[in-house]
Amino acid sequence: MKTFGPGATIGILGGGQLGRMMALAAAQLGYCAHVYAPEPRAESVAAQVSAAYTQGTYDDEAALAAFAAQVAVVTYEFENVAAAPLAAILPHAALFPPARALEVAQDRVNEKSFVETLGGRPAPWMQVDGAEDLARAVATIGAPGILKTRRDGYDGKGQWRIMTPADAAGLDLPAVPLIYEGFVEFFGEFSVILVRAQDGSVQFWDSARNEHEDGILARSTVPAPAEIAAQVPAARALAKQVAAALDYVGVLTLEFFATQDGPVFNEMAPRVHNSGHWSIEGAIASQFENHVRAILGLPLGSTELVTQGAVMDNLIGEAADAWPQLLADPANHLHLYGKAETRPGRKMGHVTRLVK
Ligand code: AMP
Repeated sequence: MKTFGPGATIGILGGGQLGRMMALAAAQLGYCAHVYAPEPRAESVAAQVSAAYTQGTYDDEAALAAFAAQVAVVTYEFENVAAAPLAAILPHAALFPPARALEVAQDRVNEKSFVETLGGRPAPWMQVDGAEDLARAVATIGAPGILKTRRDGYDGKGQWRIMTPADAAGLDLPAVPLIYEGFVEFFGEFSVILVRAQDGSVQFWDSARNEHEDGILARSTVPAPAEIAAQVPAARALAKQVAAALDYVGVLTLEFFATQDGPVFNEMAPRVHNSGHWSIEGAIASQFENHVRAILGLPLGSTELVTQGAVMDNLIGEAADAWPQLLADPANHLHLYGKAETRPGRKMGHVTRLVK
């Protein structure tokens, strides 16, 4: 066990809103946050609420080592960080979750293969490294399907819907490793969010039903309806195995499609997740608080709901301009991430309502 008492500094790789909410949870418990990210300090919304900031690239081993020397434990809010340079952190600070979790989760081929070895079931998929591979994948798996970049995709970016083999033939393929997935006929989507402590104990938050618009999470609702809830135990069992196999410490998210044949694994994130934001007000301990507790070697807080349920709506792009109306409803818990520029598709904030 590596236990760090209040006053210690947590290093966070990544400067976005997840790091911001992590830093706020750390502050509540008496810890400071030091953010490391490539953008200038003024552009990091995590930096706004953190004690220190280092601007550096994720492959700069000297800068990572110097950063690690100033903190007790390093974690990340962003999974598209190369795993190998993180070895520079280890002589100076603890690193949770382990770098192996990043390697697995940041590549769609790795994550699907890994989950399959544990008995999980993703959509049928094939690796695509060129037009011939794509034609073969569409012929084998069928259309419709989705072509995705193996790495660096988020919020529906780096994805192309293929409705027919002709669509595939007409595509100007990007020169990056790709994966083709069969289209899953689902009646709902949900996520399993767990926290695993350094002693290997695991707790789950209620699984939210997630609704996406244009590939971006729009709404998370807990509890999920019964037909989705029925699939949660099998999904949790898989998530727990994934966490154990990775010797995971911290919050881990797995996303699933609920289908007539049971849960189909979509993807995992080795971090706190947008579909768990409801837990800030809706659970006794939020995903951010328990992530911080786990990496610091502290006892975990309860993941139980404090009320009947919660609904979290993302504020995407101009939706955040409605903040005066949202604040006018005293039941709304409004979160704005402090982003200076509103852009279409950009997550600007979220609003949570507890169901009493
Ligand atoms: P992803 O970034 O892979 O999570 O994709 C974003 C969203 O696109 C998912 O949450 C689904 O709504 C949809 N999607 C992605 N992959 C598939 C698939 N194989 N079949 C059906 N819908 C998908």
